[in-house]
Amino acid sequence: MRIIRAAHLGMCFGVRDAVTLALEHAEGGPLTILGDLVHNPTILSALETKGIVVAQDVAHVTTPTLMVTAHGTSERTLARTRALGLKVVEATCPLVHVAHRAVAALAREGYHVVIVGQRDHVEVRGLTGDLDRFDVVLEDDDVLALEERPRLGVAAQTTQPVEKVRHLVDLIRRRFPQSDVRFVDTVCKPTKDRQSAAVEMARQADVVIVVGGRSSNNTRELVKTCARYCDRVHHVQTDADIRPEWLDAANVVGLTAGTSTPDEVIDRVEARIRLRASRYGGQVRQPER
Ligand code: SF4
Repeated sequence: MRIIRAAHLGMCFGVRDAVTLALEHAEGGPLTILGDLVHNPTILSALETKGIVVAQDVAHVTTPTLMVTAHGTSERTLARTRALGLKVVEATCPLVHVAHRAVAALAREGYHVVIVGQRDHVEVRGLTGDLDRFDVVLEDDDVLALEERPRLGVAAQTTQPVEKVRHLVDLIRRRFPQSDVRFVDTVCKPTKDRQSAAVEMARQADVVIVVGGRSSNNTRELVKTCARYCDRVHHVQTDADIRPEWLDAANVVGLTAGTSTPDEVIDRVEARIRLRASRYGGQVRQPER
């Protein structure tokens, strides 16, 4: 059996920096994080052991310091937080800031903003939180439900697959040929890299294992992408989720992971696959990194 790691996989710099910042601040005193810092249960339980609390709303914060996650938040929420007397630590990823600036510029220039993303995702709530009017689309039907406007400005949640975003932008353009439709590509480079590397890997694999939190959007998108090129794709949160029968008769096992998956978790998954292969006498080649 051969194991292929996708050329780009796992934790991105934005999540890594946010976790480091949270741990540093937790050393200095009680800290609350607004929403899940990352959508990964392994990291969340590590933060919990450091006494870091998670609140879904600023109204429920009881510590003097509040941290905004890598997903970012709106200026309105920041103002509300500061008005409550809380000290704010921002771990917003610089690439989420890029998306915020793009959305603000579209709105300033008179475009009706349309975000391609998940309506209830914390990042999308942050991107739209300073707008009075906007739409969020994720599927073709959402585009069909849009109203015609003279100017439509489209941006995306940073972790959406860029092909899907481009497809929806094309659909918007076809649906409203009279409108000025402007698209700003705000999908982040780490997401694009992981998506294209996953395609490359899945094309060669008999079985693909995708590692990441169940509620991680970019992990679920990696699962969907790999499933277009490989029939046997499995999503696991940790090595404990791997079922031996998944690897039956597999010559090539592909491995990828979402942007909030720690390296140790990926390594343990790979070790579990190797162990299973060696028990059954399979040859395990060193993974391509
Ligand atoms: S997925 Fe992209 S935007 Fe989100 S934290 Fe990572 S690098 Fe930043």
